[in-house]
Amino acid sequence: MNVIASCEALLQAARDALSAMAQEKAETLDQVDGYAIPPQFALPLSYLRLRPKVTIAVCDTCGRWETAAASANPTSCRMKLFCDGKMVKA
Ligand SMILES: [Zn+2]
Repeated sequence: MNVIASCEALLQAARDALSAMAQEKAETLDQVDGYAIPPQFALPLSYLRLRPKVTIAVCDTCGRWETAAASANPTSCRMKLFCDGKMVKA
């Protein structure tokens, strides 16, 4: 899987997880009974929170991710030296 595809897949997994958490009124994804957490995204998805909302942002170029507050507006990638990628928030 290339970087862009895995970036999109992680963002989609995070969006799905956040809506499942909201539906179940769960504070973490672990609290959503029977949720099939994709093993390759288990670490980033474990940081998701609803109150206050914590989501993740993924660089569209190098594919690195970081946690991001819902109010934050991450712009350029700071996770890799000389990466000029843009951060996309879930
Ligand atoms: Zn980057």
